[in-house]
Amino acid sequence: MIKPSEEEKGSTRRGLLKAALAVAAAIPFLGLTTRPSKAAKVSKAAVAYQDSPKGSQRCDNCRLFEPPKSCQAVQGVISPNGWCRLWGPKG
Ligand code: SF4
Repeated sequence: MIKPSEEEKGSTRRGLLKAALAVAAAIPFLGLTTRPSKAAKVSKAAVAYQDSPKGSQRCDNCRLFEPPKSCQAVQGVISPNGWCRLWGPKG
């Protein structure tokens, strides 16, 4: 059996390192991250969003509200005084 020389081993390691760096550099472009995209949000109509609270339930006391006027789950500008069917209390 022919053993690779030290020079050949170094060349193989460099090749693997270059391939690993190329894959790592491509991850953001391939969408291979664990963060949800903004496209994953639902429309206001789909969750019966309204610009007024429902009793004591309002966006600014919902677990999904992102101040000052966004929501993790619903598209568009979200009023702190709004409400939708996805409302849930802050934990
Ligand atoms: S009530 Fe609905 S729109 Fe408001 S923050 Fe919660 S999930 Fe988002």
